[in-house]
Amino acid sequence: MATKKGIKISALADELKVEPRELIKALKGIGITAKTSASTISEEASLSVKKLLSKEQEQEIKAAEEKAEQSSSGVAVAPKIAKQITIFSDVNVKDLSDMLEVRPGNLIKELMRLGILATINQRIDANVAKQVAGVFGIEVVSKEKEVASGGLMSVQKDEAKHLVTRPPIVVVMGHVDHGKTKLLDAIRKTNVIATEAGGITQHIGAYQVEVKKRKITFLDTPGHEAFTALRSRGAKVTDIAVLVVAADDGVMPQTVEAIHHAKAAGVPIIVAINKIDKPEANLDKVKKQLSEQDLTPEDWGGKTVTVPISAKLGKGIDELLDMILLVADLLDLKANPLRSASGIVIEARVEKGRGPVATILIGNGTLKVGDTFYAGAVFGKVRAILNDKGERIQSATPSKPVAVLGAQSVLVPGEVFRVVHDEKTASKLAEKKLLELNQLKSQSGKVISLEDFSRSVKEGIRKDLNIILKADVQGSLEAIKTMLTNLTTPDVRVNIIHSGAGMISESDVMLALASKAIVIGFSVGYEGGAKSLADDSGVSTMIYDIIYKISDDVKGAMQGMLEPIKEEAVLGHAYVKATFTYSKLGTIAGCVVQDGKMQRGAFIRIIREGKKIYEGKLESLKRFKEDAKEVQTGFECGIAIHGHSDFKEGDIIECFEIRTVLRKL
Ligand code: GDP
Repeated sequence: MATKKGIKISALADELKVEPRELIKALKGIGITAKTSASTISEEASLSVKKLLSKEQEQEIKAAEEKAEQSSSGVAVAPKIAKQITIFSDVNVKDLSDMLEVRPGNLIKELMRLGILATINQRIDANVAKQVAGVFGIEVVSKEKEVASGGLMSVQKDEAKHLVTRPPIVVVMGHVDHGKTKLLDAIRKTNVIATEAGGITQHIGAYQVEVKKRKITFLDTPGHEAFTALRSRGAKVTDIAVLVVAADDGVMPQTVEAIHHAKAAGVPIIVAINKIDKPEANLDKVKKQLSEQDLTPEDWGGKTVTVPISAKLGKGIDELLDMILLVADLLDLKANPLRSASGIVIEARVEKGRGPVATILIGNGTLKVGDTFYAGAVFGKVRAILNDKGERIQSATPSKPVAVLGAQSVLVPGEVFRVVHDEKTASKLAEKKLLELNQLKSQSGKVISLEDFSRSVKEGIRKDLNIILKADVQGSLEAIKTMLTNLTTPDVRVNIIHSGAGMISESDVMLALASKAIVIGFSVGYEGGAKSLADDSGVSTMIYDIIYKISDDVKGAMQGMLEPIKEEAVLGHAYVKATFTYSKLGTIAGCVVQDGKMQRGAFIRIIREGKKIYEGKLESLKRFKEDAKEVQTGFECGIAIHGHSDFKEGDIIECFEIRTVLRKL
């Protein structure tokens, strides 16, 4: 191996103004080994470290934020210096820097001193946040659940005197056919805010009702899949979950699933026991089943609010709405209508004659016609705002669902929507987001594998291992659950957030994505698109058929000992048909791909008469005269390796890559 040009640790540490040993520790966290301050690391590695701390990135973000801040409806909203801040389980580096009111670059540097190399968009654990905030003299209070925050948007930066109560945002979940749709219809029919004649309800994905002069926002798509899909993108959309359980059918598998999804999101649950008009209705049976799910009803001495209803007859709906308001009061949901708006995209489509239309749930601030915004990688200028009755309105306040016209292209549900000062800032931030999305696709601490977990345990960063467990039968499920739960140590906790008998489903993968969990299957396969969803989203799924292997792997990870193994994966073979020698390029092998593919940058070995004669990297791959990334079976290509010219007609070129995999059966 040729030695690459690199940079000395001491020099880099000097440049970054940190101690060499801190830099070494931080590098170790991202898998780069450097022994002493005299060691060298590759230029690539040093560049990525520098990028983390780059002034430009820092200033760009700062400038954008300041502008957004100034645009707060002309009312000066001076950020209050917090002596104490609250975070929930983990926090994004940028958000933390906002809360601490320090520059992201400084925060990243302090993290580095603690031996943690994090990018501006990475999430860090509450404990780490506590440590690093201490450096700035600010106390962090972490809360296990997100309940108290009331979800959607942080109001951390708003002065208390500007905060007003906002309506709760409610999702309806439950087993199929238990009456979710019927309930949403019943609520809408009787309570939609009265308007001038002809206000017909439009489907925009959410609607608002008025109860005793107060408002409640309902997400119109029932079911936990949609809820978790939004949450998996990082959006905390809902404040309260209404769990519909049919009184004649009782708690069913999807009821349990919904409970787990709501609990994982830290959203309080109100149970609507539906279909009480049916003769088979059995309230006591349902309450008993709810108790078994840790949702003991209030009248049984527990804490869960239950309301008997009949969506069909419209019975109990008012009581249910009252209970929603009561729970909302406890949550103390606040927002600042004086600032510029931010919210969550909950639906998006293209409409004929209107262009891209997106439904936004306003989380904080007031949205106005003419505002410029970005959401994910898309930006735009609000051309029109429509309410849930299809009427044009000039502005929208917190918790209001509105259809917004004027985006440059279709927004992505789950993305955070933000109003910024001007179009240039909006387009710049959208562009930046696009780059990030491309770079961080399915990474960035959003997903976790046993291997990542193992590493972070070693670093002392994580202490909760979230698991979604699926097994073939209830018996083995219980056995594995007990075994895994028993692995919990004072330092590391195994947290089974959902378990069930049956195949690994898309819903399991979504929940894992949303909750940073891994999926473990025992003697089961994947349902429908679950495998491809897991692959695309980077969710780590593992299937076992021997129980003790599960405990071996999990235990290993918990002790920070699970070393990844490298595995070779053959990509394809090519046959050398002819060779050409050029003075400049050396020898090029003219090949035809026999199976699989040739891939530039992958490894190759040349096999002649059954013997390996060379191994190296596929440096140059061409289709005719053009550079190609890969060439598939049946096609011809030219292959060249710098410094190697020994190709012969009849040679077989095997192309392979090295994959890092977890220890498997
Ligand atoms: P979803 O799958 O949970 O959305 O369930 P639906 O709202 O589509 O309801 C399923 C079926 O149960 C429909 O035939 C409804 O008419 C019926 N249903 C819903 N609520 C009630 C109720 O309170 N009483 C009775 N008897 N039937 C109901």
